[in-house]
Amino acid sequence: MTFLKGKKILVMGVANKRSIAWGAASAMIAQGAEIIYTYQNERMKKPLERLVGEDPLLVECDVASDESIDQAFTEIENKVGKIDGILHAIAFAKKEELSGDVTDISRDGYALAQDISSFSLIAVTKRALPLLNENSGIVSLSYLGAVRAIPNYNMMGIAKAALESGIRYLAAELAPKGIRVNGVSAGAIKTLAVTGVKDYQKLIQLSEDRTPDKVGVTIEEVGNACAFLISPLASGCIGDIVYVDKGVHLT
Ligand code: NAD
Repeated sequence: MTFLKGKKILVMGVANKRSIAWGAASAMIAQGAEIIYTYQNERMKKPLERLVGEDPLLVECDVASDESIDQAFTEIENKVGKIDGILHAIAFAKKEELSGDVTDISRDGYALAQDISSFSLIAVTKRALPLLNENSGIVSLSYLGAVRAIPNYNMMGIAKAALESGIRYLAAELAPKGIRVNGVSAGAIKTLAVTGVKDYQKLIQLSEDRTPDKVGVTIEEVGNACAFLISPLASGCIGDIVYVDKGVHLT
């Protein structure tokens, strides 16, 4: 079965082969999708090219800038036309907001993390709307820290809570237009982003210890769930946050 055959999916957030977005892109390719990738800046382009080759369209998109988002979608529209889905796997908070006390979070740090990690989903969705075919899917990535107080996850937990709420509001607004918005709450996996959290090894250990076989979830497993949720197979899922953490959230 290739349930994404003929679908064009925009994948935002592949930094390297460890990225969750790479797990998702690989799963979607396996299901027949054509992938378009965005990268944050020139520095991120080369590693992405090495990973995906020169065939797929690679487009620069820094979600901190409305201009960059606009340019990216103009380029995608010109070169690809309409698309059938977006994977949003982007987050950022300053290191100092991912350690110590929540009461020490700065106003600037709070705004920056919310901007990149939560508002960007709204900004990207708004700009993408004219390009999205009916029956499209949008999927973003969250973590248990959105709903539980996880040591050191601090600012990112607050941003993920906003992201999850944004997913629900966007889902309600866009469902009548035939666009489904959902989230995947992934277990902790060692990626570039997670190393910003103080004592991130403990975060990963926690996610491994609580699984039935003591093996943490993989980017392939998370990627498969993303591929399903973005596809028309998930027509019954609207505004859901699906846990893909091998049961860690249960206990
Ligand atoms: P990653 O470092 O591989 O990916 C993060 C991506 O965000 C990078 O590609 C980076 O370039 C991009 N990014 C940051 N700022 C950006 C900006 N201004 N404009 C455009 N792109 C920007 O790490 P990852 O763990 O694969 O993260 C992907 C998503 O998964 C994030 O939302 C993260 O919070 C979420 N997540 C990660 C875990 C985990 O344990 N790794 C668990 C649950 C959820």
